[in-house]
Amino acid sequence: MRVAYSDQYDLNLGNHVFPSAKYRLVKERLLHENLISPEEIVEPSPASDDDVALVHDRDYIWKLKNAKLSHVEILRMEIPYSPELVRAVWLSAGGSILAGRLALEAGVGVNIGGGFHHAFPDHGEGFCVIHDVAVAIRRLQRDNLIQRAMTVDCDAHQGNGTAAIFGGDESVYTLSMHQENNYPYPKPPSNLDVNLHDGVQDAEYLTALENSLDKALAEFSPQVIFYLAGADPYREDQLGGLKLSLQGLEQRDRMVFEKMRAKNIPVVITLAGGYARQVVDTIRIHCNTVKTAMEFAGSATGPAEQ
Ligand SMILES: [Zn+2]
Repeated sequence: MRVAYSDQYDLNLGNHVFPSAKYRLVKERLLHENLISPEEIVEPSPASDDDVALVHDRDYIWKLKNAKLSHVEILRMEIPYSPELVRAVWLSAGGSILAGRLALEAGVGVNIGGGFHHAFPDHGEGFCVIHDVAVAIRRLQRDNLIQRAMTVDCDAHQGNGTAAIFGGDESVYTLSMHQENNYPYPKPPSNLDVNLHDGVQDAEYLTALENSLDKALAEFSPQVIFYLAGADPYREDQLGGLKLSLQGLEQRDRMVFEKMRAKNIPVVITLAGGYARQVVDTIRIHCNTVKTAMEFAGSATGPAEQ
């Protein structure tokens, strides 16, 4: 199974709650455990500015590329600005476009990066600079590879950027399952928001996920789904208040893949958040997602026709 990855995904954040080396650590662990071989790693090209402009305002793109963000705009991103950061997020968007193409070929496509669901057309926030998933969906649509997509966002935080970008767009269905009493405030409406209370554990979470996937798939027939497999619903997370176990998170992934395989819908995986007290746990959760995804690779090809 080929995976999209670049060593330059590293956001170069230094000592920050966002473990920006996690992409490299996930890649190294997947290689170390022989889950992927070096030949299966595909280096993406950065998204083009035209690709990014399918989602983001030209003025915002210009400010990012020319170091012209205001102090307030940088504060809102909650991560330090650097040219390397801009390079990393353009590459991550390219990786999500690539993973989208891989998913249409092989049933499953993985970007060992991305999932920056808090980015809006005109600004970044919550560690997210540009919305790689939205850029990928728009590029696949522009290339006529798909018409209809669904986002399944299982990060602990609501996908506010996703909801804002695709609100009112009938070609993209947004599902977000998240902790209600947590960033972001406000939460612009997704097509389906599952607001979980604090401390939800495995069984309750998995029941809610099954019900919401069934509801979403009854309401909408996507040709591809983008799964934001955030690691932060984990009970040891520093920025999340849900209480899932490592096993519960693995069951979550499996449930998403099984539901999509039953309908022959290709799945694109991006990593999104993850702030476990021990970085090794975040790496384990992301690697488990990729490992589970591998079982489903090859199970669907081409955009689902429904
Ligand atoms: Zn999150």
